[in-house]
Amino acid sequence: MNLYAIFRARFPADLDNCWLETSHGLYYSWRDLERGSAKIANLFASLNLPAGARIAAQVEKSPEALMLYLATVRAGFVYLPLNTAYRAGEMAYFIENASPSVVVCSPKNFGWIAQTAFARGTSHIFTLDEISPGSNQNRNSGSLLSRAVYFSDTFETVHRHADDLAAILYTSGTTGRSKGAMLTHGNLASNIAVLHDVWHWQKNDVLLHALPLFHIHGLFVAAHGALYNGSKMIFLSKFDSAEVIRHLPRCTVFMGVPTYYVRLLADQSFKRDLCKNMRLFVSGSAPLLADTFAQFAERTGHTILERYGMSETAMLTSNPYEGERKPGTVGPALPGVSVRVVDSDGAACGSGMVGEIQVKGPNVFQGYWQMPDKTAEEFTRDGYFNTGDVGFFDDDGYLSIVGRSKDLIITGGYNVYPKEIESLIDELPGVMESAVIGIPHPDFGEAVVAIVVARSGAILVEQDIIHALKNSIANFKVPKRVHVVNELPRNTMGKVQKNLLREQFSA
Ligand code: AMP
Repeated sequence: MNLYAIFRARFPADLDNCWLETSHGLYYSWRDLERGSAKIANLFASLNLPAGARIAAQVEKSPEALMLYLATVRAGFVYLPLNTAYRAGEMAYFIENASPSVVVCSPKNFGWIAQTAFARGTSHIFTLDEISPGSNQNRNSGSLLSRAVYFSDTFETVHRHADDLAAILYTSGTTGRSKGAMLTHGNLASNIAVLHDVWHWQKNDVLLHALPLFHIHGLFVAAHGALYNGSKMIFLSKFDSAEVIRHLPRCTVFMGVPTYYVRLLADQSFKRDLCKNMRLFVSGSAPLLADTFAQFAERTGHTILERYGMSETAMLTSNPYEGERKPGTVGPALPGVSVRVVDSDGAACGSGMVGEIQVKGPNVFQGYWQMPDKTAEEFTRDGYFNTGDVGFFDDDGYLSIVGRSKDLIITGGYNVYPKEIESLIDELPGVMESAVIGIPHPDFGEAVVAIVVARSGAILVEQDIIHALKNSIANFKVPKRVHVVNELPRNTMGKVQKNLLREQFSA
C-alpha cells in the first residue's frame, strides 16, 4: 500500500478536472497534481536518501507545498511539517531531534537553517520555489521546484506497508518540549476512510480550505478528506473572513478552528444566503463555545459539527452527521476507535463521571520519535493511549472534554476542572470568554485564578464575578482573583496558551 496510491485510485476519471483553485484564481488539475508530485518524487529518489529518511518542511502554504507533502509520501519517505512561526531555537531543536535528510525552508530562513542543518547531518537543503542568495551555487541546495522541473513527470509510487511511517507531527508543546508523533500510512488511511463515511462526503463536494498545512487538522482531516473524495478544493493561503465569505457560495464543506467561526460571526456581511450551498461546517482543535454554536445556528441555519482528535491519534470522536449535534460535546467515538474514560486507578468511569480519556484503534500513532520511555509511559498495559485530556461521557455516549490533565488545578487537596468554572463565568452578563488556571499558592498548593475577557462595551468588576460564583459552586472552586484582559493568548490552532497565562499571572 501507499497512502498516495489510495488517493490516486480515487481521483476523478477525468484528470483534467480542477483539483485546486487558489484565491487568486489559479487552477491546478488532478493531472497537474499527479505530474507535479511525480517530478518532486523523482528528484527525491535521485538523492540517494537512506530508507525512512525524514523530509522536513517549513514552508508557506501553497499548492506546491501540498504537492511536496504528497511527493514525499509517494516516494516512500517521511514528511515532517513545521509551523512557519517557529524561530531559530525551535527549528534547531526539531532538526537535532528528527535529523532530517532534507530540509525545505523559506528563502529568508535559508542562511541560519543551513548552518544548523548541515552541521547536524542534513544532506540537502532547499527553498521551495524562490532561490535564496548563496544557495544556488551548491549542488545540494537551491530551489526544489526549479530542480524538479528537469525530472520525469511519471513516477511509480513506492510500495509501503501499513505500519511504515508516513509523517512525524511535532506536538504543539503547550505543556513542555515538543514530541514527534510517528504516524503510519495505515494510521492515516484508516482515519480518512472513516471520516469519509461518517461525514457523508459527496460526489460534488467542494472544500473551502483555510487551515494551515503544517497541522493535522488542515493536512490530514481537511486536505485528505478532499483528496480521498476526489473533490476540488478552493485553497486560501490563510484564514481571512472576507476571503471565506467571498468563496463560500461555491463551496459545500468548510473546516476550521473555533476562532474562525467567531471571526466569521463578528463580520456583519456573513449572512445566511452565503451558506446556501453549504453542507457541512466542521470545528475542532480547540473547544467550540456553546454560545458560538448557537449564534452560528441562528445566523446561518447550520449546526457546526464538532469533532475531537490530536496529532498522536488523528480523529477520535465526532458529533453525528445525521442525528443530534450537541454543543459542548465532541460526540461519540468514531467507528473502529475505542474511547474510554478511566479514574486515577484505571477503572472505567460511569456516565457523567470525569476521568482521563484513553483511546485505542488503527488510527493511533506508533509512539514518539526517539522517545521510547515517554512512549511507554503514555500507553497502558492493554494498549490504550493516554490522551492527557480529561472528560466524561453522557448517557447517550457523547464525550465532553473538561480540559487537559496538566491543566487540572489541585487546591488544598481538592480537584478543580477549569472548564466547569469557565462555563459558569462565560454565562455571566458582560463576559465574552474566560480561562481558569492554577497558580502556585503558599497555603493551598495552587490557587484558582480566572482571566476574563469582557464583551465590547461591558465593564467587569472582579468582586461581582467572585460573588456570583459563590452562589453556585463550592468555595474551593471560586477563583481567588479575577483578572480582566483584552484577549486571551492563543496559538495558531486557536488553543488558549494557559502556560503563558500561568507565567504572566503567577506573580
Ligand atoms: P493537536 O495535537 O495540536 O491537534 O492538539 C490536540 C488537543 O487539542 C487535544 O488533545 C485536545 O486537548 C484539544 N482538542 C482537539 N479537538 C478539540 C475539541 N473539539 N474540543 C476541545 N479540545 C480539543
